[in-house]
Parts: sequence; C-alpha cells; structure tokens
Amino acid sequence: MMQLQKGDITAFGGDAIVNAANNSLLGGGGVDGAIHKAAGPQLLAECKTLGGCETGQAKITKGYNLPARFVIHTVGPVWYGGEKGEHELLERAYRNSLELALSTDLATIAFPNISTGIYAFPKPQAAQIAISVVKEMFVKAHDLQVTFICFDDENYQLYQKLLA
Ligand code: ADP
Repeated sequence: MMQLQKGDITAFGGDAIVNAANNSLLGGGGVDGAIHKAAGPQLLAECKTLGGCETGQAKITKGYNLPARFVIHTVGPVWYGGEKGEHELLERAYRNSLELALSTDLATIAFPNISTGIYAFPKPQAAQIAISVVKEMFVKAHDLQVTFICFDDENYQLYQKLLA
C-alpha cells in the first residue's frame, strides 16, 4: 500500500523513517537536520560508528527519541544535469532502503523526497522514480506500507497527481 502525507517526517510513528543523508552520515541540513534534532544526540553517536555511506546505499540505526523505531539513512545523488548516473543512483537509494527495511522485518516505512532539496534533483522525475521503485517492491513484499511524506507543496501536488 502506498499513501501520501504532507508535513514533517519526524512525526511518523511507524517502523522506520528514511533519512536523506549525506555521505558522512554525520548530519546536515534539511530533513537530515530535522531528524537528528528530533532523535537526539544518541543518533549521531550511532551514526559515527557506521563509517559513512556511499551514494545509493542505505544503513539502519535505532530511532532514539523519534516515534519511529528505526531510521534508514540513505544518500541520494546530487543533481549534476542528469548525465552522471543520477537516475540510477536515486533508484538505488529507494531500492536499497526498501530492501533493508524488508531484511529487518519492517513493514511501515516513510520516505521524504530524497535528493529534491539541497541536492536539486528535478522533483517531477524524482517522484516518478520513487513511485516506480516502490511499486516494483510490492511484487515481492505484499504487506509493505509505504508513506511518502512531502514537506513542500510542489512535491505534494506532484505525488497527488501521480498516485491518483
Ligand atoms: P537532499 O540533500 O537529499 O536534497 P534535503 O533535506 O535538502 O535533502 O531535501 C529533501 C526533501 O526533504 C525536500 O523535498 C525537502 O522539502 C524535504 N524536507 C525537509 N525537511 C523535512 C521534514 N522535516 N520532513 C519531511 N521532509 C522534509
């Protein structure tokens, strides 16, 4: 099942939220900053033990003070114009986050709009990639519940159209 919400992903009370992190996993701006602020300093302490994360890969931590039990940290690509493998890297970020959730036996997971903030990936293309990778995953994971949480109006409206 796929659903759409507008607002702040740190309020999500399911099994896991996905963080649009950077390669260091040591915190940043945007949704990453909001997640670390809400989770508390123990999240950064655990992230420091992970040795960073390559673009397109994903790593999992506990959620600490968040309502969600876990945080899946993934790194989306920076948009350099579309000829640097950006599409495939964004697909991998979504796919690897979902695979990690499944291998940890998590069923309710929320995504922000990875790479569409500071990393400047075009929002319409990013939304199509996110939805198509999640649909692919439903073929083998029938009980998965994916919530797209859009913080900005443009993403929210794009997802509303694509999911209608
Ligand atoms: P990236 O570096 O991957 O582009 P950003 O955090 O800059 O990451 O932006 C990714 C998306 O997260 C953007 O669409 C932005 O609007 C959204 N965002 C920012 N804060 C939050 C939040 N608290 N909850 C959910 N989404 C958020």
